[in-house]
Amino acid sequence: MTITAVHPFILHLPLTQSSISDSTHSITHWGVVGARIVSDDGHEGFGFTGTHAHLASDRLVTSCISDSYAPLLIGEDERDHRRLWMKLARHPALQWVGRAGITQLALAAVDVALWDLNSKRAGVPLWKYLGGATSERVEAYNTDIGWLSFTGEQLVENSRRAVEEEGFTRIKLKVGHDDPSVDVERLAAVRRAIGPKIRIAIDGNGKWDLPTCMRFCNAARDLDLFWFEEPLWYDDVASHAALARSTAIPVALGEQLYTLDAFKAFIAAGAVTYVQPDVTRLGGVTEYLQVADLALAHRLPIAPHAGEMSQVHVHLSYFHPASSILEYIPWIKDHFAEPISVRDGVYARPEQPGASTTPLPASMERYGKALR
Ligand SMILES: [Mg+2]
Repeated sequence: MTITAVHPFILHLPLTQSSISDSTHSITHWGVVGARIVSDDGHEGFGFTGTHAHLASDRLVTSCISDSYAPLLIGEDERDHRRLWMKLARHPALQWVGRAGITQLALAAVDVALWDLNSKRAGVPLWKYLGGATSERVEAYNTDIGWLSFTGEQLVENSRRAVEEEGFTRIKLKVGHDDPSVDVERLAAVRRAIGPKIRIAIDGNGKWDLPTCMRFCNAARDLDLFWFEEPLWYDDVASHAALARSTAIPVALGEQLYTLDAFKAFIAAGAVTYVQPDVTRLGGVTEYLQVADLALAHRLPIAPHAGEMSQVHVHLSYFHPASSILEYIPWIKDHFAEPISVRDGVYARPEQPGASTTPLPASMERYGKALR
């Protein structure tokens, strides 16, 4: 069993809505940037990270895969994928320039591809390859109904439809207006429309400062918010800890954290309750499992961020005992051989061998971008 080829790829897939915005980003496409890894026995695995479809930076990821990682992988036994993770992540020259950013996103794609390849060869879905499902059901929460770019009326109607027509019992709404009272009014209108039983999480995408967050949480204290995600600048451990001490709304974060060590710092400081690792920003499945075990050891729930739009995280959520709920954004699912599927607010358990990361050939053809 020997790796014979590593083929990077870039897909820019249009959103199911023409464009969306949160407090800090506005996008029209999702970037699926990754690698196909081929073994001499004919098996192949796909892995990818998620981007904002910015071609120049996507090419930095694929050049890291082809020029830096591929030479370290060719000729290796892909079954040694945990050793290979160490070989790539701790390569002295790459560690010198990396440990976060481009090198870590590229590592995520490669690592996921190796897990996909190995579970395909074993003939089982990734959750089974990891050791089997520890959960009967993985509930989904819908993020795609709550973008900041929606009007208040759209927000209410989207929320009502998700709950009454699609069966979601959990939703997430974006916040982050310059005047936080606007957000409180929008959230109150949704709460009135969908009643007290539906769980509403909110997401600030790191825009506000600490006093703004404190004032907002005080004004929103009667809305029964399930969590406040990324209230503050992503790397600011002390301010998140201060906010967590000041409000009864649980703090959620992790989608912008690159390493096990970063999660360790937030957890040690009491700065996070809902832990949100992402295989596409951590170093793939391998490092995700380390973060998940860390959360489990602290009895903190995991609610993964879906940078791969849940194609991989649905496996990890069925597998890992610290998993609680999983984000649902249906932008790219129709471009995969085994798309994620949610019915009545619950994820279908994948049953095909692999990590559900194999793109459809037609999508590769139509939405693929040149690497140089
Ligand atoms: Mg978020």
